[in-house]
Amino acid sequence: MAPIYFTPGPAQLYPTVAQHLQAGLDKQVFSQSHRSQAFKDLYRRTDAALRALFNLPEEYAIYFTGSATEIWERSLQNLTAQNSFHLVNGSFSKKYLDHAKWLGRQTEVLQVPFGEGFDIDHFQILEGTELVGLAQNETSSGVCMPVQDIHALRTLFPDPLLSVDIVSGAPYAALDFSKVDMAFFSVQKGFGLPAGLGVWLVNERCRRKATQLEGQQYTGGHYSIKSLHEQFLQFQTPCTPNVLDIYLLCHIVEDMLAAGIDTIRRQTESKAIQLYNFLEESNLFKPFVQNPLHRSPTVVVADVVDRPAAQVISKLKEQGLVVGSGYGNYKETQIRIANFPAVSEADVDQLVKALRQL
Ligand SMILES: *Cc1c(COP(=O)(O)O)cnc(C)c1O
Repeated sequence: MAPIYFTPGPAQLYPTVAQHLQAGLDKQVFSQSHRSQAFKDLYRRTDAALRALFNLPEEYAIYFTGSATEIWERSLQNLTAQNSFHLVNGSFSKKYLDHAKWLGRQTEVLQVPFGEGFDIDHFQILEGTELVGLAQNETSSGVCMPVQDIHALRTLFPDPLLSVDIVSGAPYAALDFSKVDMAFFSVQKGFGLPAGLGVWLVNERCRRKATQLEGQQYTGGHYSIKSLHEQFLQFQTPCTPNVLDIYLLCHIVEDMLAAGIDTIRRQTESKAIQLYNFLEESNLFKPFVQNPLHRSPTVVVADVVDRPAAQVISKLKEQGLVVGSGYGNYKETQIRIANFPAVSEADVDQLVKALRQL
């Protein structure tokens, strides 16, 4: 039996990946020119599927990049001249901040301890802030920011551009894109695809700001919003893109639409409840995130109470169940369980059974 990956990226492949990959090979899709009509049709179809999945307002554009990491840098290069504000509650939100510092931006940070989320009623964002960066789901700590809180930021702070990292929350997180300005993800987490593709969802407000800054600073050349957008208007990309991943993404998103995004969200929630209920009643594990409102449904992090986490991980591995280790300093004491759409209710049942027997 092939192992089941509960790792938070790269993660278990979506069940239909193999069949779509074979179909793509059979049709020789991956040898076709990225300047061909066939590629434009693929981009157009992927664009339509993603719009439907995210209920994306018409004004949004969809660009392809190499990774989410690239989008951290591109977004700051194109959308800020001076400063940015970052909500930091783990390693990934911190890396967005690092990019801003590397680019020489003045940064303001609201940082909370690892494992905690944000209380939006108790912070201020300075007047004149150009961009606010946050992670809707902090993959390192298993803390999520409820989408209502993200939407509320728009009302509290209408001026700065709001940039949301949805890498490990999408497609579960029901973000209202009319209340943010951009969001982005890479495909090896919630979409269950091989790594190597970033997807950047960008509204008109971002594009106006990018146009304003164009010519005044380095915005990335071929990879600037200006260039990406000119290409996007013809369903083209500045460079030869990861056609393999775009093709798979197109088909996986169509499969998710066929399954129903509401169904996928409900299943994610019921699998998450099962996992957290188990952690609550277990003597060996405890949920790491204390505030139930901030517990991520998509990346579940558990403290291992009376033995090294590595022992738990290797015992599970013997049974074909691959869970992630804790992040960074928490490697010895935590495990992380990805609850992405690619893992079924039966997979989670099997994992909980195995955890119970440890
Ligand atoms: C994995 C991850 C990233 C980085 O994705 P890459 O594809 O490695 O660039 C960024 N943000 C979050 C929240 C992630 O989980």
